[in-house]
Amino acid sequence: MNREQWAIGFDKLPRWLCPHCQNGLLHPMKDYPHVEETEYSKEEQKLQESEPDWTMERFVALLKCDVAHCGEVVAVGGNRVAEFFEDWNAHRQWWESVLVPMLVRPAPHIIPVSKNLSDACAMQLRKAFELYWLDKAACANRLRIFVERLMDHFQVPTQKLDKKGKPYDLNLSQRITEFDKMKPGHKDALDALRHVGNYGSHEGQGDVDALLDCFELLEDALAELIDEKKAMLAAKAQKLIQNKGKNTW
Ligand SMILES: [Zn+2]
Repeated sequence: MNREQWAIGFDKLPRWLCPHCQNGLLHPMKDYPHVEETEYSKEEQKLQESEPDWTMERFVALLKCDVAHCGEVVAVGGNRVAEFFEDWNAHRQWWESVLVPMLVRPAPHIIPVSKNLSDACAMQLRKAFELYWLDKAACANRLRIFVERLMDHFQVPTQKLDKKGKPYDLNLSQRITEFDKMKPGHKDALDALRHVGNYGSHEGQGDVDALLDCFELLEDALAELIDEKKAMLAAKAQKLIQNKGKNTW
């Protein structure tokens, strides 16, 4: 995951990977970006005490996938804001215009969506990518729901029996503990996702870095759990050893 592609604002929009074909890169189409300043902003700029960050501008842009037979078109929209920069060593201060996307649709994938994921899981992940731009807290909450669907995918029980033999519901934390008995080694990553989901729903805003950490943890966990990356590499290594270095697949 390249974190620079998932910043809050950009001087120019990144060359995201196409969300449709996962092969091409998204390039700006003509009139990029189309920016308009509000009339009340123009009025405020006339005031003597006005600062560049009082400016209120909106932008829209269309990006197109460079794979000819795909040609996916992604719509982006949001605010253009003035950001203050300073370089202490060079004794320099300056303002720059930054594009802050609030909507990117269809949303580029922050981490790969494996074909081996269940539809329910893939849907939550895609929704998290969309919400990332609009509402970080809602995105965090989606990741928590994703973990619940992942537990369903691995058929982790939703109930257990108490000492009297009466069934009771397991919460997500308890299901993750159960899952750890089935497939050990991912409890911390899944718990981290559960916590960031709680934070998102209680505090009303998610912390961007924490959220990106979660995507990173998830990418790693899914590569193991869903795509069995390590097991596949180990099998390839075994095959090479057996064939004395010749690849006979
Ligand atoms: Zn494409």
